[in-house]
Formats: sequence, C-alpha cells, structure tokens
Amino acid sequence: MNAQPVIIPGARALTRQDLEAHWMPFSANRNFKNQPRLLSHAKGVHYWTPEGRQILDGVAGLWCVNAGHGRTEISQAVARSLEQMDFAPPFQMGHPMAFELANKIVEIAPAGMDHVFFVNSGSEAVESALKIALQYHRLRGEGTRTRFIARERAYHGVNFGGMSLGGMPPNRKAWSPVMTPGVDHLPHTHDLARNAFSRGQPEHGANLATELERLVTLHDASNIAAVIVEPVAGSTGVLVPPKGYLQKLREICTKHGILLIFDEVITGFGRVGSPFGAQQFEVTPDIITMAKGLTNGSVPMGAVLVRKEIYDAFMTGPEAAVELFHGYTYSSHPTACAAGLAVLDIYQRDGLFERVRELAPYFEDAVHSLKGLPGVIDVRNYGFMAAVEYEPFAGKPGARGFDTFVRAFEAGILVRAAGDITALSPSFIIEKSQIDELVDKLGKVIRATVV
Ligand code: PLP
Repeated sequence: MNAQPVIIPGARALTRQDLEAHWMPFSANRNFKNQPRLLSHAKGVHYWTPEGRQILDGVAGLWCVNAGHGRTEISQAVARSLEQMDFAPPFQMGHPMAFELANKIVEIAPAGMDHVFFVNSGSEAVESALKIALQYHRLRGEGTRTRFIARERAYHGVNFGGMSLGGMPPNRKAWSPVMTPGVDHLPHTHDLARNAFSRGQPEHGANLATELERLVTLHDASNIAAVIVEPVAGSTGVLVPPKGYLQKLREICTKHGILLIFDEVITGFGRVGSPFGAQQFEVTPDIITMAKGLTNGSVPMGAVLVRKEIYDAFMTGPEAAVELFHGYTYSSHPTACAAGLAVLDIYQRDGLFERVRELAPYFEDAVHSLKGLPGVIDVRNYGFMAAVEYEPFAGKPGARGFDTFVRAFEAGILVRAAGDITALSPSFIIEKSQIDELVDKLGKVIRATVV
C-alpha cells in the first residue's frame, strides 16, 4: 500500500495550449487551465502530481475509489478480460461475467431485491430506474402513475430525467424550459438552526417526509409513479437523513402504492457502513441505483437493482418478446464486469464495509474537531461521509468553498467543494494517522482563510 509510484522521468509538461481542446466537465475551465491541478499517479490513499507532489486523497477520487487506488487485483482482472474478450453484445446475447456480477450484487443486496440491470454511470442508472418505474405501473394497469417526486438539493445525475428530478439550482437553471414534466420536489432536510454540528443522524426533520402526503393529496396517488431520494444526499454537501425520515417516506409510499427509489450512487458499496444505505437505515426501497463503488471507479459502470415483484411484472407476455426496450451498447461490458467482480471480492475479503463501521467514530471525532474554527458554521457526518460548512464570503456564495478546495490541494490534500461546503469521503483503507493528517491540514487551511 505504501509503494511509491514511478514518476515518469522526462515526461513533457503540458503547456497552456495543450490544455485548451479538452472541455472539462463541471469545471471552471479557464481558471483550471490558467492554474492546472494535474494528477498523474495513484496508489493507496494517495495521488501524485506529474511533478511528484504527494496528495492525500480525502474524497476517494469522487466518492468512488472505496478500496483505495491502484489495486492490482482489479487491473489484472481487467487486463485478463480484455485479452479474453474485448466486447460482447448485450442485446439478445450474454457473457458469463454479467450473470456472475448480478448474482454477487444480489448477495449483498437487501432481502427481496434480486434483479440487476447494468448501465455505465450513475446518470444512466437513474434514467433507467425512472423508465422501469413507469413501465412497471403501466404493465400493472396503472399507467396514470407518471409523476415523480424528488427533493430539493438532490443530485441524480445530468441526463434529462435526473436533471429534472435534481434539486441543485445551477444544474437546472440553463435547461429550465425542457425539464421532464410532472416532477415535484419535497423540501430538503438541511436545518442549520436546529441540527448544526449533529453527529450522525440529526434529531430534527422527520416530519419533512409528511410533505409527501401533501403532494399525494394534491395530485392523487393514482398519478404518482415514484419518489426518489439519496439516503444521504452527497453532492450537495452531505445531508444526513433526520432520524425517522426515511422510514416515514417508506410508510407513505407503501400506503399509496408509490415506488420508493434510493439513489445509492454514493451511499452504495459500504460508504455508510453497510453494503447499501437501505440496510444501514433499515428501510428497503423498491429500486436502488448504484455506480461509483461498484467498480471502485476503475471502469465506468452503474446498475439498477429492483425488487422481484418489479422484474416479475415485466416477465409476462410472449416469451420471445423483448420485455424492456431499453439498454446501452456498453450495458454489462465485460471489462466493467471483470472490474466489478474483482472489486466485490476485495470488499468482502478485506472486510472493508466493516472497517467503515469500525473507523466511523474516529472519523467523526476527527472532523468534529474542526468545530469552533473561524467561519465554520456546521460539521456533519455519517459513515465515511462528512461535510464542513462555512459562512460564505460576503456577496460571493461558493467562493469560500472553492478557495478552500484550491488551498487544500496546495497543502497536499484532495477535498471536494460543494458551494461553501468542504466534503470528505475517504477510501475505506485510510489509516487513523491519515485521517488525522487530512483533518489537520484542512484545519490549517481553514485557519488561514482570508475573509
Ligand atoms: N446519483 C447520485 C446520487 C450521484 O451522487 C451521482 C454522481 O455523483 C449520480 C447520480 C450521477 O452519476 P454519474 O456521474 O456516474 O453519472
């Protein structure tokens, strides 16, 4: 784990012009290209810049490298699979690893959730889940159930369905006229006045779930297909569900025949201490979307996990008929399946989900030591997810979070900025001393903030 990566000697440094052609996603392109932050190697919980500067990865890449970087079991499995068969058509054909991986996911899934549809990203998982939900109701003779209910501050990816369900204003603003129709948003659960500096699940806010009843009354349950939430909202800056909140959502959905979708693209694969948030919070949804940790970030892959009743509803009609007219060229791609199988083996063999549970209290104490630093208005956490929220710079929302992120990188740690929030989500192999280093360096950056 401590092996030093090889810094390629003599590798040509990229010039400003070299950086121009690549239009970077979710990035301040001009700012980056004028002051690039490049990464060239990774091993364990570290990245290295092309110049050889070591960076402690406090965010598992982007909430995905749960087992740490550079796992040779994964790269070897991927190489073997590429050699053996580079591609297999997923429509009307199959390859053994796809079935094997689906079975492995079902093994760690909540009881009763036992069919897996493969995609290539979290965004595609969300779109697929929405389409499955709509057709499910239609197949059961309830085709009027077409509305979706999501939540303010949610992130469900960037495609049209997920964007429309999402609740982060900048991700919606430019495309407002073309949102998917029939979407409502529940209020988010962030309540600084009552819940600031909560450790784990906040005390206040379960009642916000009853807003769902209001929407059911407004639209009538017969028009509502599904409710979608992230068990812990990640991208918006780690919003932990108040005690009892998810249970209440489940009760209301069940009462009205509405499907409950958990978007577990971040919370899946151990981040909250169980395979899925569903088990950790003891609430079983009808559909789970996942991606990221499924392949440890190594090869793009996502999946939709559904209850048996949902799959069974599709398995009607003539046996030779296609049941779901949906899928991607790269659904269940052999390379991704090989990565997924190797990753699930690592999680199990190394007991990494248990490790999150064991280390979560230490991580919690460490991040909460930042309480009281200048400008810190909240610290919150669950499992291996945490956020530090700051008083914004006057008249410049988001600037403080970005400034902290940039100076943190200069100080040798990779964190994630979400508005005026720093999010932390380390790999599960992080050692206590490295948690200390991460929080210590972040604390120094916060103290040095010039307001
Ligand atoms: N859903 C959730 C909850 C996410 O956190 C993300 C990404 O962070 C997505 C969907 C979209 O995943 P992707 O970026 O793989 O499309």
